[in-house]
Amino acid sequence: MASILSNPIEYLKGVGPLRAELLQKELGIHTFQDLLEHFPYRHVDRTKINLIREIDASTEFIQVVGRIVSVDLVGDKRSRRLVAGLRDSSGVLELVWFQGIHGVQKLVQVGGEFLVYGRVSFFQGSPQLTHPEIEVLHGQHVTPPDFLEPVYPTTEKLKVRGLGGRQLGKLTQTLFNMLKEKDLPENLPASALTWPDPETGRPMGFLSRYEAYRQAHFPTQPMLFRQAVDRLKFEELFMAQLRLGLIKSKRHRSSHGVVFGQVGEFFNRFYTHYLPFELTGAQKRVLKEIRRDTGSGRQMNRLLQGDVGSGKTMVALLSMLLALDNGFQACLMAPTEILARQHYEGIAALLKDMPVEVRLLTGSSRSKSRKEVLGMASEGRLHILIGTHAVLEEAVQFQRLGLAIVDEQHRFGVAQRARLWNKAAVPPHVLVMTATPIPRTLAMTAYGDLDYSVMDELPPGRQPISTVHRYEDRRPQVMDFIRHEIGKGRQVYVIFPLIEESEKVDYENLMKGYENVKAWFPEPKYWISMVHGRQSNEERDTNMQRFLKGDTQIMVATTVIEVGVNVPNATVMVIESAEKFGLSQLHQLRGRVGRGTEKSFCILLTSPRLGKEARERMSILTETNNGFKIAEKDLEIRGPGDIEGTRQSGLLNFKLANIVQDKYWLELARDRVMELLDKDPDLAMEENRALKAFLQSQHGKTAWSKIS
Ligand code: ADP
Ligand code: MG
Repeated sequence: MASILSNPIEYLKGVGPLRAELLQKELGIHTFQDLLEHFPYRHVDRTKINLIREIDASTEFIQVVGRIVSVDLVGDKRSRRLVAGLRDSSGVLELVWFQGIHGVQKLVQVGGEFLVYGRVSFFQGSPQLTHPEIEVLHGQHVTPPDFLEPVYPTTEKLKVRGLGGRQLGKLTQTLFNMLKEKDLPENLPASALTWPDPETGRPMGFLSRYEAYRQAHFPTQPMLFRQAVDRLKFEELFMAQLRLGLIKSKRHRSSHGVVFGQVGEFFNRFYTHYLPFELTGAQKRVLKEIRRDTGSGRQMNRLLQGDVGSGKTMVALLSMLLALDNGFQACLMAPTEILARQHYEGIAALLKDMPVEVRLLTGSSRSKSRKEVLGMASEGRLHILIGTHAVLEEAVQFQRLGLAIVDEQHRFGVAQRARLWNKAAVPPHVLVMTATPIPRTLAMTAYGDLDYSVMDELPPGRQPISTVHRYEDRRPQVMDFIRHEIGKGRQVYVIFPLIEESEKVDYENLMKGYENVKAWFPEPKYWISMVHGRQSNEERDTNMQRFLKGDTQIMVATTVIEVGVNVPNATVMVIESAEKFGLSQLHQLRGRVGRGTEKSFCILLTSPRLGKEARERMSILTETNNGFKIAEKDLEIRGPGDIEGTRQSGLLNFKLANIVQDKYWLELARDRVMELLDKDPDLAMEENRALKAFLQSQHGKTAWSKIS
């Protein structure tokens, strides 16, 4: 049965084809339902009749009832206006019109009684209403509306067509007059409709769905408005997490995964003879989780959150060896060529005395070696393939791919993740590793379909990185400090911003910066590497290699080296124009040092003129090294829309909810969803029938449904 809410907006009284087209174009409103979900951004109180005497400097809007005592046309032809005096029992108020004077004159006549509403402005000290809304009262008793009047977001084009912020409310009103409770049936199960008051713990109840929509648009009391919005936010968050939860629970129960049943020769031999250090507790715990997942017969889809430097690469390597032990191939993907190459070299070196075939595949692999690698992969002779996005190409086929690892997730989209699944008849296990932590609330919503591991422990012997913030005029002291560290045999990074919109200027700054560093550190005593995106691969590579080997002491670079690069002897990170970077990015850059046992430093250089927010970012970084804390702050400051990798996904475009401000509802929804799926993973129970029907009716209408 089609719901009235799926009717095209054109058929709502007062819309018609022309306005319908505009509503679609301007606000994406196609159906009655869309109009219902176009929420007001504020309300004005028209439930009261005010007295003119009550107006003071703080009055914004006023609604009065009075009689017209004067009407005058003033000004010359070029700036004519109509001024009327309205008197109530307490005083007189001026009403002013600049346009449509002719029509107003007909309506507004001395002696007439009117209900008048408008925004108060002051002209030479006395209050007036310009272009007020007026309604003739033919002596009848005035009953103001019993709800707060909604004002809706709109556009200039719609305003011209008579669909301003308040006029849209008239349409919504028309719609509501047609709606019955059954048109907006309850979709939440009873178990989700009550919740404990966060302060008193007393059980509270949500408004019904119908009532919530009504009160969100036309609240009869401010309190009910808040309750309505809370209910709708909760519902939004609940449905979003339920969708992801269903994907996850379905996969847990029915997805086929290849089974890594045993730990064998590859893993054990490496672990006993070639593992260069003792694993941290966190690394061991995550490996156990991976082993449990991959041995279960279901496909693993796990997100590994670890702070910078927590040793995710070793977890990746050991997991891949586990795959080999069970007769499968493995691949590891990195977001940049530099990083892929570094992983390749590091892993190949660690495995050099083991009978493991490891190869690298990137966009710039020469066709001969590319052909060889592809052949080895498809014939099953290749054990481990390391590479960039190039690995995802159709041409890359494995004989028995069992595990795919994605390093530094936030540059890989959801869709790319899905492409990995198609690389084998039975989809391989997937491990996704983040570069820097993502806040828990964000991970819950954006990656709620993945299982979740955390590495919150750094390898032993690390000294915390000291971070300082310096203004650019202190550069000489900073350079002295660098010289001192180089004197001790250490290496240094100097990072310049590269922001797409100002690319040209940024390159000029990078070059100037390079010359400047060179002036402080002249050859042949010092050698400098430079790495940036405009270089050829060979050039970048040579520079990188020289720094890795210690042939150069200083690395001047853009953020191309942001993620993953590992040079344990580097102890100083200087970030130029640090105010241009986001928190997570700064933390990630800082993570390039502090990778060995020597004390490391990060120096944030900024202009002395800093905005409040930039100042806050600098102070957060100087206060903490904890990536999890920084991620939370980043989310607070920037909001969810801005966090890299989530923007494109469309997963966080809630209509009402905000995962930063509505953390309480998010977590409550999460808990309720988990309880529910524990009890009824298929939504087969009677009490969840309405919920199931609702989800099915929404299929295809949200970004969420696209990922299932
Ligand atoms: P990230 O998690 O940022 O990717 P890496 O995997 O690059 O971190 O590891 C950072 C550094 O720590 C590397 O030099 C690595 O060899 C080292 N490392 C990793 N695990 C341990 C450990 N358990 N003990 C000592 N050093 C470790
Ligand atoms: Mg890494």
